[in-house]
Amino acid sequence: MSFDLPTTMKALVKTSEGKSFEYKDVPVPVPQNDEVLIKVDAMSVCGSDINLYNWNDVARVIASVPFTPGHECAGTVVKCGPQASIPLGSKVGVENHYYCGSCYQCTHDEREICKNMGQFGHGKKTPYGGAAEYTIVPAKFLYTLKRDLSPDEIAMLEPLGVAHNATERLSVKGEDVLFVMEFTNTDGMGRICECSGAPIMVNASFSMLLFKALTLKTVHGRRIYHTWEETENLVADGKVDVNRMISHRFPMSKFEEAFDVLFSGKACKIVLYPSQ
Ligand SMILES: [Zn+2]
Ligand SMILES: [Zn+2]
Repeated sequence: MSFDLPTTMKALVKTSEGKSFEYKDVPVPVPQNDEVLIKVDAMSVCGSDINLYNWNDVARVIASVPFTPGHECAGTVVKCGPQASIPLGSKVGVENHYYCGSCYQCTHDEREICKNMGQFGHGKKTPYGGAAEYTIVPAKFLYTLKRDLSPDEIAMLEPLGVAHNATERLSVKGEDVLFVMEFTNTDGMGRICECSGAPIMVNASFSMLLFKALTLKTVHGRRIYHTWEETENLVADGKVDVNRMISHRFPMSKFEEAFDVLFSGKACKIVLYPSQ
């Protein structure tokens, strides 16, 4: 199998600090060493992409220009660098936490909190992201799907994996659990998973806990690659329907419209298609 590749492509890029992204023609990158070129089939927009779009104080911490955004994406392998050997045509998801493999955390099975972490889609140790027709990912950060999932579903495995990792680590079986994705009101709860990151909600979470006896656990990212295998099976077996989370779909060329819908508060998850 081989793929005919163009020399230029459309991509979103942020070349300097400021609002929005540029939608422009850039060269299709050539994979070197252990890098893999993937055709991006779908990219879901994350809450953190709003920070990157607006380039606020959070963005200055989590990202550095220049970069292409998009850390939740589904792709097809179209070309391998000389030291990569993933079969062409493989369907893949991207583990966007680029761990170093040698720090204390990495050598103690906690690669998701690597202290030298790079991040795909944030300009951290890579300029590449999923908001492009093609993108480059080192082979070890690609998860090759074994089951038959749609591009939308594959893109959603990244955020689903964070929630799944949290529920596994917090031993929530048989408990009432409140997942805080957006600001909300509730009576006391036994377990609260605060996932919104909104300061008002983080504070409110403490006051909502019953009995005020608090065990605090923080969870970041996914278990690499245990969580990917779990969530792939949950979606493929129909136990979790991520399609119900997707409220809007847009061609990537209409990304400004997509962000306007997000800012209006009327969207849940939005999927973009870079080749449209
Ligand atoms: Zn995200
Ligand atoms: Zn590390």
